[in-house]
Amino acid sequence: MHSFLRRGKDLFCEGAPLGEIAARFGTPLYVYSEATLARHTRVFDEAFAGTEHLVCFAVKANPSLALLDLLARHGAGADIVSGGELARALAAGVPGERIVYSGVGKTVAEMERALDAGILMFNIESFEELEALDAVAGRMGCKAPISLRVNPDVDPGTHAYVATGLKTSKFGIPFASAIAGYERAGALRHIEVVGVDCHVGSQITEVAPFVDAVSKIGELVACLRGRGFGIRYLDVGGGLGITYDDERPPSPAEYGRAVRDAMGVTGLTLVLEPGRNLIGNAGVLLTRVLYVKESGDKRFVIVDAGMNDLLRPSLYDAYHAVVPVRDEGRAPFVADVVGPICESGDFFAKDRELPEVGQGDLLAVMSAGAYGFSMASTYNSRPLAAEVLVRGERAALIRERGTYADLTRGERLPEFS
Ligand SMILES: *Cc1c(COP(=O)(O)O)cnc(C)c1O
Repeated sequence: MHSFLRRGKDLFCEGAPLGEIAARFGTPLYVYSEATLARHTRVFDEAFAGTEHLVCFAVKANPSLALLDLLARHGAGADIVSGGELARALAAGVPGERIVYSGVGKTVAEMERALDAGILMFNIESFEELEALDAVAGRMGCKAPISLRVNPDVDPGTHAYVATGLKTSKFGIPFASAIAGYERAGALRHIEVVGVDCHVGSQITEVAPFVDAVSKIGELVACLRGRGFGIRYLDVGGGLGITYDDERPPSPAEYGRAVRDAMGVTGLTLVLEPGRNLIGNAGVLLTRVLYVKESGDKRFVIVDAGMNDLLRPSLYDAYHAVVPVRDEGRAPFVADVVGPICESGDFFAKDRELPEVGQGDLLAVMSAGAYGFSMASTYNSRPLAAEVLVRGERAALIRERGTYADLTRGERLPEFS
């Protein structure tokens, strides 16, 4: 469910026509629906009603301050993976006790900042990291609350780049070493064991991988409790998929039921780390057609957004629906929708049937709210796109378009030139 619907010929975001928004703010432009994000957040939360739980939005999916602020006001916490994301979450008003810190490569400086902020827990991914955190907490005269990220070795059935819970992945501690890991953690003076964590992947479209992972982790919790560990949190990560094309992922309610049934242990606070599920279908990327080029047997619709604005098709071969913002009911044609970047991997759609479009037409790349702007770069020296948030009929700029001055900020000639 999202709020990008057509009224007559024109595509709207809630009550605001996307054509007008593009005319006002320019393209390429990310547009988000506040109602969709709020609704997804509420529905996800309700899926765990009756169970102690904390929903920590995976900031890496979309770190916009305005969106984090909205999420924080709806009671969400944050799952962060860097000091930068910590700074953003705090700036957006997410309280430290609702922040969990994931990621394989936390630096000492990042650990210090997170301890200062009093975060809920560190999700630890190696013994080396555990020892480093113990030392940092010792120097600061405190105890660091931790979970070990345990790798349950389940196949989430998604793209290899977003499968994170397999034995061969760089993430987490092997399931077989988990008990030994906890014994080691328990022996460290400045570490407080508070939870168990896992995250098996992203864009998962069935419940089975979650059920497998959570039941394994639940057994581990029972075993750890038997050994005297005061486990309070069960963090099951994120990964619930969305519909980009014709996927039929479980609803948050089905997912919630499956996770709660699989836990097998009681008296725990569940921690959830959804990213894509909350924001993915709450955003679109608007882009204008520059040229339609016929080249041999191929037709290319060349648009003013590129892989630097939305990397998912290039990186994951991901599908995004591409639709005209104004649908004149023209007959369909088949084309590749491509950007201006000097890379053959710079495309949004290949051999796609869409209503015939021409120069100046506006297109919406759908489901671009997650891992869209957050992965944007200035490759080819293209300023970052602007971002707009819609509430009802109102549209507000939440991020200014980048400028050429931004591109060279901080650059200088060497002293010896
Ligand atoms: C990326 C990530 C998430 C969010 O994944 P989604 O598929 O966007 O829900 C949650 N937890 C961890 C540890 C992650 O790396």
